[in-house]
Amino acid sequence: MTPRILIIYTGGTIGMVETPDGLQPFDFSHLMDNVPKVGQLGYQIDSVQFENPIDSSNMNPTYWNMIVKDIADRYDDYDGFVVLHGTDTMAYTASALAFMLRNLRKPVVITGSQLPIGDTREDGTENLISALMVAAAKDENGDPMIQEVVISFQDYIVRGCRTTKFTSTGFDAFKSFNYPTLGSIDLHIDYAKPYLLRPQVKLPLDPFYNMDPNILVMWLYPGITEDVVKAQLSTPGIKAVVLRTFGAGNAPTESWFLKALTDAVNSGLIVYNVTQCLNGGDEQKRYYTGDMLSKAGVISGYDITAEAAVTKLMYLLGSGLTKNQIVEYLGTSIVGEMTDN
Ligand code: ASP
Repeated sequence: MTPRILIIYTGGTIGMVETPDGLQPFDFSHLMDNVPKVGQLGYQIDSVQFENPIDSSNMNPTYWNMIVKDIADRYDDYDGFVVLHGTDTMAYTASALAFMLRNLRKPVVITGSQLPIGDTREDGTENLISALMVAAAKDENGDPMIQEVVISFQDYIVRGCRTTKFTSTGFDAFKSFNYPTLGSIDLHIDYAKPYLLRPQVKLPLDPFYNMDPNILVMWLYPGITEDVVKAQLSTPGIKAVVLRTFGAGNAPTESWFLKALTDAVNSGLIVYNVTQCLNGGDEQKRYYTGDMLSKAGVISGYDITAEAAVTKLMYLLGSGLTKNQIVEYLGTSIVGEMTDN
């Protein structure tokens, strides 16, 4: 069977070509003209694109809804989906889509590039072709090899909701620090089968369109003042805080700080502890500087990425759950975004 793949072009460097007026997004309905090598795959490839492709720094929940709808509306017509996206916020989108595409059982492969396809020296063509192959891959039972949202970039396939952009210049821009890579792309594309997500229940795709963006991310640093902490925690409208802590999830133990956090929690705010370290995670009970946070009602994010923490909160807050239910979900993995404790 000829693989049928839908490309969704949202913007970003990958889809740009040199024109006399500088770099501009190219029209994906002419994909084969712009990237003729894609034709050699022999796949049936269709594409849709944002009316006005964006730099991914402008990504937001409205655009996520558009991507989710593009996939949901055509879910039965394709074997897999390739989302072309700027690299800057790709890890956020990968995490958001993982939560929003509930019951996903087909590949959603996100890629982009550091240099545009139109450049003489570029990584876009290879990233696009590899992503198409990953989206078309089947396992020994003829089921999709990938049944989740992944980022395929340069040499690796990684779980989307475990991933962070860690270099703005290197071609291998993404890394999954706390979960093994799902595959490697070199002479062959090899899959790390034990680590691939295999949904336990097979239910129809259930797209979610109600991400709640009322989140604050508070980054701690030595010397942070009481005024700065209090001003942030009293931001109008926020419902949850991602607290970016030190090391194994530690924070200052000064009484004004703990009081500010306790007051925030008591007033109904959800505070989610996510370490500033890329590798490892929170062990709130390990040091007294972390244990104080547990006592203040802060919830540990264990080894979740900041990108997954932000989008998980948006998803849970938008789901109409009670505070207790949200707290429960924050401590466990929903789509493989954290290691269950
Ligand atoms: N600023 C661009 C974007 O994220 C960078 C890229 O595409 O790599 O859209």
